[in-house]
Amino acid sequence: MAYVVTDACVKDFVCVAECATSAIAPTADDPRAGAVSQVYINPDECIDCGSCIAVCPQNAIYAEHELPADKAHFAEANRAYFN
Ligand code: SF4
Repeated sequence: MAYVVTDACVKDFVCVAECATSAIAPTADDPRAGAVSQVYINPDECIDCGSCIAVCPQNAIYAEHELPADKAHFAEANRAYFN
């Protein structure tokens, strides 16, 4: 399991700073940050701590198994960003 960022993300990068395993990308200083509409969580790096959920003011992050049906496709979208 991993945590998943959805399209409610406004790229404030608060979660990026919170993640102890640097699983969330892009970072604010990454040149690719301007080209994406949200940040993504690498499921291979996420340790399911939940710290990012606690700091997200948009409630954009879900545990994968708790994703609403209309946002289920974001699990693959997060994974795909890192492939
Ligand atoms: S749940 Fe923890 S490890 Fe996973 S992305 Fe969020 S802060 Fe990082």
